[in-house]
Amino acid sequence: MGNIKIIQGDITTAEVDAIVNAANSQMLGGGGVDGAIHRAAGPELLAACKKMPAQNGIRCPAGEARITGAGNLKAKYVIHTVGPRYGVNEPAAQLLASAYQNSLNLAVSHGCRSLAFPAISCGVYGYPHREAAGIAVSVCSRPEYEPLAICFYLFSDDMVAVWKQALES
Ligand code: ADP
Repeated sequence: MGNIKIIQGDITTAEVDAIVNAANSQMLGGGGVDGAIHRAAGPELLAACKKMPAQNGIRCPAGEARITGAGNLKAKYVIHTVGPRYGVNEPAAQLLASAYQNSLNLAVSHGCRSLAFPAISCGVYGYPHREAAGIAVSVCSRPEYEPLAICFYLFSDDMVAVWKQALES
């Protein structure tokens, strides 16, 4: 899996074609990595999100993904995906796999050669890290995504260790 890298750091600094945001369904910003991405991208990103069609306020259901421009970020695109809230959105494993898969498919269909993922659902959405890492690595390792340079941006030493273990096993 030479196309998958693990980096410890802030995803907003990633020099890639697309940065994946662990968004919420409303796509109007929030805490965690979502807040960091919106702060770094500036108001253009929120304006682009607001333009996405909404149904009862939902712009992106759990497991799906949407693509917008990236405002002031170095990336060309932000791909907004919504992971499952652990213990709430079921089946969680399938929804998490779909969030990764739909993000990767949008990157490919928009001609991206590189993208950066955060640890989707591993913050306030409460997904157990080891299981989440296994799902993330298994979807990203599919042969159809081999042409993409995929980076995981992780914040803590612990998360880096968990992801490295998933990648090596
Ligand atoms: P979710 O709601 O999907 O759980 P969170 O944003 O709460 O998303 O957390 C997802 C992960 O992103 C967590 O592991 C959190 O520590 C991490 N994170 C937060 N800010 C950043 C950032 N700027 N770059 C990379 N990872 C981040």
